[in-house]
Amino acid sequence: MGLKLYTGPILDVSDERELCVHAAECVRGMPEVFNVSERPWVNPTHADTPELADKLRAVVARCPHHALKIVEHTS
Ligand code: SF4
Repeated sequence: MGLKLYTGPILDVSDERELCVHAAECVRGMPEVFNVSERPWVNPTHADTPELADKLRAVVARCPHHALKIVEHTS
């Protein structure tokens, strides 16, 4: 499976499925971005304000095995 990158307007999220321990911090923390019934299941396009981007950073930081990571835009 490997690493997948999901792009959003303010930041991107990478996902390494092999590291996921299904703690559901992501889906509980920000269901508008992390929704396992949708494809793609990670959709950072919903984090489209600075406040929502900060919330997404906080939710991703709680991912226990670092399956999810924030990829900041460089420009
Ligand atoms: S928070 Fe991380 S470990 Fe938990 S379900 Fe989401 S991706 Fe998997």
